Amino acid sequence: MPIYEYELSDDKGDCRPCGGPGFTLRRPVSAKPLEKCPACKRPVRKVISSFSTPTHLKPLSITDAKKAGFTVYKKLGKGEYERQ
Ligand SMILES: [Zn+2]
Repeated sequence: MPIYEYELSDDKGDCRPCGGPGFTLRRPVSAKPLEKCPACKRPVRKVISSFSTPTHLKPLSITDAKKAGFTVYKKLGKGEYERQ
């Protein structure tokens, strides 16, 4: 069952019953989106959780790796590397 993250959509303080500016909830995919906090009845909106974002599995290209701050070495032979 996916975990959904909600936050108060009126941005006015914390939801005391649920202990913060938001809460997480396990809900079936078929359940309709929650519009109100079940505890304090204030309007909520769904937060796109970073945990559910698909990760890019394709290998980094050398250019991407360099952009990301990696130092890229090319293997020249046994124990020899050339900095690219
Ligand atoms: Zn609440």
